Amino acid sequence: MKIAFLGLGIIGSAWARNLIDDGHEVRCWNRSAKDFPNFCTSIQAAVTGAEVVFIVVADPAAVQSVLDQISHVLTPGMLVIQSSTISAHWSLRFAAQVQATGAAYLEAPFTGSKLAASQRQTVYYLGGDDDLIARARPLLEPIASFILHIGPLGSASTLKLAMNMNVAGVAQSLCESLAFCRAAGIPDEVYFAALARNGSRSGLSDLKEPKLREHDYSAQFSLKHMDKDLRLALETAAELNISLEQIGHLKAIYQRGMTAGWSEQDFIGLIRLVDK
Ligand code: NAP
Repeated sequence: MKIAFLGLGIIGSAWARNLIDDGHEVRCWNRSAKDFPNFCTSIQAAVTGAEVVFIVVADPAAVQSVLDQISHVLTPGMLVIQSSTISAHWSLRFAAQVQATGAAYLEAPFTGSKLAASQRQTVYYLGGDDDLIARARPLLEPIASFILHIGPLGSASTLKLAMNMNVAGVAQSLCESLAFCRAAGIPDEVYFAALARNGSRSGLSDLKEPKLREHDYSAQFSLKHMDKDLRLALETAAELNISLEQIGHLKAIYQRGMTAGWSEQDFIGLIRLVDK
């Protein structure tokens, strides 16, 4: 298929490479120029004539900027697959902007970080009509390990934020319990041997164990993006009229990490706030 791929960050660059390997005709664009296969310096040139447009950029402001630049070259028959983590509020707004051009909009947030994206293990949460999902499946299935249809537009964004609320909570508990043991002189090796045989072991603890043991805070998923997701969760909770006490507390902790200058580093690096 003719694909425009917009956003070549940690995730976008991995997916774009896989789509190129799958034999699609992929034109790639990123806000800052990159040495990348099939790179277009003009976003309009990348999108014009494409059948499918992938978007995976930082946040709602970035998606807005991308759509404002391409709306006039979107045409009926095109499908926009938007995978940046945003909220339902923004997803409905962006869908309306795309649909006004005659193109279709599929909400496609996902889980699985850098490694999963490059190893075709992404799990997609899709929001939208069945016919759009059927159109997207042949492209997404080869780069994913699982595709879940969550419900109508907006629902997948809400579900994605809910999953990240869990991740942020589990990560903070992991950081505090590990720092607690370190402060008491218990070696990391012993801590993780115990965790491996404890009910609180998780996919997240398995993923982050090597980084915690090696004090490696290079980004798989950056602190600034989790901070953004907690903000979007709190905004959505206000719209839903529910109170998220722990998320409010976590948001303040993430703010401290941002102030410490760690926004581009992995969110597990927050352990430094408690680790002596
Ligand atoms: P990333 O490495 O930080 O890349 C962000 C991308 O957004 C870059 O291509 C950046 O372009 C672009 N961008 C930022 N502001 C922009 C703007 N105003 N206009 C146009 N482009 C802009 O992020 P990532 O880790 O790939 O994540 C991308 C999205 O997926 C985020 O919404 C994130 O929350 C979500 N997500 C990530 C993961 C993960 O594990 N990494 C997992 C699930 C969901 P420049 O290169 O020019 O800065």
